[in-house]
Amino acid sequence: PLPDTKFKRVMLKISGEALMGPQGFGLHPPTVERVAREVKSVHDMGVEICMVIGGGNIFRGLQGSAQGMERTTADYMGMLATVMNALAMQAALESLGVFTRVISAIPMDQVCEPYIRRRAVRHLEKKRVCIFAAGTGNPYFTTDTAATLRANEMACEAIFKGTKVDGVYDKDPVKFDDAKRYEKVTYDEVLAQHLGVMDASAIALARDNNLPIIVFSLDEPGGFRGILAGQGTYTTVN
Ligand code: UDP
Repeated sequence: PLPDTKFKRVMLKISGEALMGPQGFGLHPPTVERVAREVKSVHDMGVEICMVIGGGNIFRGLQGSAQGMERTTADYMGMLATVMNALAMQAALESLGVFTRVISAIPMDQVCEPYIRRRAVRHLEKKRVCIFAAGTGNPYFTTDTAATLRANEMACEAIFKGTKVDGVYDKDPVKFDDAKRYEKVTYDEVLAQHLGVMDASAIALARDNNLPIIVFSLDEPGGFRGILAGQGTYTTVN
């Protein structure tokens, strides 16, 4: 029997780096497939799923601009990187039998759908996984902001931020043995203490709309499904 969940519609935000596996760059198909299986296991529970995937495994605007490229151009390249990741995730999910739509903030009709809010809602109602690509479509933003924006627009009950660690810590748990995980933390604490959950504009947007952020480990097999069923360790930001 499938575990019960109180969630009907959620946003899953992962960074582009979650798809690069041991390579250190780009897309690692077995890793993409592993993440797709995690998504499918939650889809099987009947949960409507929105996804935003970053682009940092391919290109980040800040890195480009640090090398002398115009920031806006570099940011557009970053947004295009997220489209590549979205297409890879779409292919992996569809090969597992999960219907999906890639929906881009920047229209590119031959590649994927343009973002039309009511249409996206309809896809979700029909249990298609909606992968929102090209961020917000604006430079100077991040995919964390895009995930928060779309989660609000799609009336998701929470953002699930899949990371390498099982929650928010007071310091980097990879570097410090005595790092402490928070059970719960407020948006304002995250902002004031510069806790690395999401960037400040994303946190503020979530706070102003009372959208909880649940930080959990994507490396834990079955982790996403477990968290939705209320098991495992995670941090709630609300
Ligand atoms: N980006 C942007 N506007 C957006 C979303 C993303 O300009 O609304 C660009 C930005 O340059 C960013 C890149 O796309 O560096 C990749 O996104 P992000 O850094 O959020 O990816 P992640 O770190 O989650 O992999």
